[in-house]
Amino acid sequence: MFTRRVSKFLINVNRCFHTSKNYSKDSEHPLLRTLRILKEDFYRIEGPSKNELEKQRALMGLFPRHADVLIIGGGAIGSSIAYWLKEKTSREGIRVIVIEKDMTYSKCTTVLSPGALHQHFALPENIQMSLFGAEFLRTIKKRFGNGVQVNFNPQGHLVLADEAGAQHLVDNSVIEREFGVINELLSKEQLKNKFPWMNVEDVELGCLGLEKQGWFDPWALLSVMRYGATDLGAQYVEGEVVDFLFKDKQEYIGEGMEDASYEAVQEAVIKLPDGQHKTMEFAFCIIAAGTETLELSQLARIGTGSGMLSIPLPIEKRKRFVYKFDCPESPPGINTPMTVDPSGLYFRRHGLGGSFLCGVSLPEKCDDSPEGFFNHQISPVLQNRVPKFSDIKLRNSWCGIYENNYFDDSGIIGPHPYYHNLYIATGFSAYGIQQAPAIGRAVAELILDGDFKTIDLTRFGFDRLIVDKPMYEYRQIQ
Ligand SMILES: Cc1cc2nc3c(=O)[nH]c(=O)nc-3n(C[C@H](O)[C@H](O)[C@H](O)COP(=O)(O)OP(=O)(O)OC[C@H]3O[C@@H](n4cnc5c(N)ncnc54)[C@H](O)[C@@H]3O)c2cc1C
Repeated sequence: MFTRRVSKFLINVNRCFHTSKNYSKDSEHPLLRTLRILKEDFYRIEGPSKNELEKQRALMGLFPRHADVLIIGGGAIGSSIAYWLKEKTSREGIRVIVIEKDMTYSKCTTVLSPGALHQHFALPENIQMSLFGAEFLRTIKKRFGNGVQVNFNPQGHLVLADEAGAQHLVDNSVIEREFGVINELLSKEQLKNKFPWMNVEDVELGCLGLEKQGWFDPWALLSVMRYGATDLGAQYVEGEVVDFLFKDKQEYIGEGMEDASYEAVQEAVIKLPDGQHKTMEFAFCIIAAGTETLELSQLARIGTGSGMLSIPLPIEKRKRFVYKFDCPESPPGINTPMTVDPSGLYFRRHGLGGSFLCGVSLPEKCDDSPEGFFNHQISPVLQNRVPKFSDIKLRNSWCGIYENNYFDDSGIIGPHPYYHNLYIATGFSAYGIQQAPAIGRAVAELILDGDFKTIDLTRFGFDRLIVDKPMYEYRQIQ
């Protein structure tokens, strides 16, 4: 009804423009003028498509009161979900609204990451998701046009292990190969031959991902996803979800629920930039709010209710410092892969002018300043691994916060077992950006097809928290 009213309004607007345009076209050839008017009349009879209407409503700043799917958080994961939902339902499909509280993305995790892409995992799900991430980048121009550039550097991803970690590296490399990953195990000597700049004295083994591994620009990927979603008709609304509204559904009986106690979550309360509060009803809601997913889940009573609602989402905010430094004297060359030290510290080239990025997960308690931490903890490890790094100059640093799943380090994806229409996509810790294309596609499959159709992520569901079955990755590798 509302759509029809907007449609009528837009048709009238078109008519006004049509009339005013005619005044300035007196010198037009009569035949051309007739053809033009006929063409515009046909447009009016046809009317704008549903997708165009969505775009025009957004341009007019109309607040949508209903979403088929409401996504909270327009970072890489939320935007990927929006893109896949629209991609799979064709242009005239469901109404997808993304609520994003910070349209500049100044603090969102996605844009603060160095964008590593690799398949060094023990869990098949993680390997498959990251392989799809690589495939998505490979074919990105086909999907979004030749102008798109995500700066993928396919220089590989090298994980180094000391004696204690070597067997895990071997075990993981076998699983990875089963899923089509191309990697090679390198002994101390082989490492030295391939990378003469490296000190290998305290290294036992290395595993180098040879294909579909390296790094890319996360900001570019987010922009492409967002562009893709809006182009297909998803609407982004600036605002912060600050609460949920519930509705008594006493007729609903579910496993693990007390009789006549079910309250469905069905509206979000959104604080707009001008301070107004508005509500939006939804058929499905997906919380993809990165580090703030825990707070939002609590607003939906997850972790604060009883029965199935008593189990909290095990998401905590974890800090990571990222540093940019210059190595003026003969830096490691263009074939330098993203390299992960046995200590967990990683580094990679940043451009071709001798600049590098590096970082590490911070210990749970760290009172050091970013510079202090660099001098005390980072610099000695860098110098040990690459003697040429003994004369580096720290240029810049920033602190990124990521959504750590302290239960088992793996992502949590799918509906909450109590609500059915409330989905979660979070906890991908240090590899959420490379897996964002696969996560978005998986959530779209769940909503539209009722099941995972490509990569089976059932084991990453919320249910594992209820039955206490962790899905450990061997080690969280950058
Ligand atoms: C330093 C660092 C290094 C990393 N390195 C890598 C790496 O090399 N490779 C890799 O794959 N991953 C890496 N990660 C992890 C990766 O960046 C994240 O897993 C991923 O970006 C998470 O995406 P997201 O969309 O869930 O979260 P975000 O990008 O944080 O997006 C969430 C969005 O939700 C919005 N939001 C929050 N609350 C609300 C609300 N109430 N209402 C409306 N909007 C809301 C926020 O404004 C934000 O824009 C790294 C992370 C960090 C911090």
